[in-house]
Amino acid sequence: MNDILLLGANGQVGWELQRALAPLGRLIICDRQRGNLEDLDSLRALVQAERPAIIVNAAAYTAVDKAESDHERAQRVNADAVDLLATLAADLGAWLVHYSTDYVFDGSGSRPFREDDPTAPLNTYGRTKLAGEQAIRESGCRHLIFRTSWVYAARGANFAKTMLRLAADREELRIVADQIGAPTSAELIADVTAQVLARLRDDPQAVPSGLYHLAAGGEVSWHGYARFVIAEAARLGLPLRTTAERVLPIMTHEYPLPAPRPANSRLDTNKLGSTFALTLPDWQFHVRRMLVELIGEKVA
Ligand code: NDP
Repeated sequence: MNDILLLGANGQVGWELQRALAPLGRLIICDRQRGNLEDLDSLRALVQAERPAIIVNAAAYTAVDKAESDHERAQRVNADAVDLLATLAADLGAWLVHYSTDYVFDGSGSRPFREDDPTAPLNTYGRTKLAGEQAIRESGCRHLIFRTSWVYAARGANFAKTMLRLAADREELRIVADQIGAPTSAELIADVTAQVLARLRDDPQAVPSGLYHLAAGGEVSWHGYARFVIAEAARLGLPLRTTAERVLPIMTHEYPLPAPRPANSRLDTNKLGSTFALTLPDWQFHVRRMLVELIGEKVA
């Protein structure tokens, strides 16, 4: 039996996982209503009733700024519930697939972070996500933790879609240029997850339990990313007031937010690529696909 319990099925990554995991086994699809990570008793009852071979947790408290003033809920969803899922997975002998973030790092240094680099989160979201990772490791369950960055999808709220909205309204945008990372598509995250789980089904020995960085290739600042999105959207015929040239670079301190962000958000993905023989395309590839999906048909 290859039952897969999917939590957070309506998020950016969860939605894509519904598609990508469907051919791999019986998929038990849980949104917040069926699998609420704030209600640990019902979460336990759900897992014990379904007894899945694999738990895939795409649910998380992802409101990075709100978490600064809502620490308890962020901790419950990102750490306490994950701790419970890991304990249950260990009891059942199930695998736990979980997602974490570049925000576990402090953003220092000038090279991409590796899985074994020291963590030092700058904000509450990062601290609670790191606590979730640690709980999984301590539980002893077999697991795959995929740390990713700057997630976007056609469905859901994200930076690229915010840029399209702002560019339709305003003449000029000012976007942070001193934070570097790789925008990573929920589609790519889901497809990589499915590839690894297919390998797990075919040859369990070929899947080492552990932590893997999973991000698109290349790197860009938020400013460069915004320019790319706006240039591509204009090329696809979307009417916008802002042009790519009128997206101006600013420094992080000029746009203060409640939660501090790491300057260097780059993740070294060599371990994932070499362990599973996977290629991670450059970030532009999936951003273009999303823009065609969002805009292409509208202007055709
Ligand atoms: P989204 O915010 O798009 O989705 C999160 C999902 O979690 C939503 O469907 C939400 O439900 C659900 N959720 C929140 N609280 C609960 C709860 N108490 N019980 C059940 N479900 C809940 O996030 P992403 O898909 O972008 O993120 C997927 C993973 O990737 C997460 O682990 C995240 O930490 C990680 N990540 C995300 C990044 C990003 O830029 N978004 C960057 C790096 C890592 P509802 O739809 O009802 O609100």
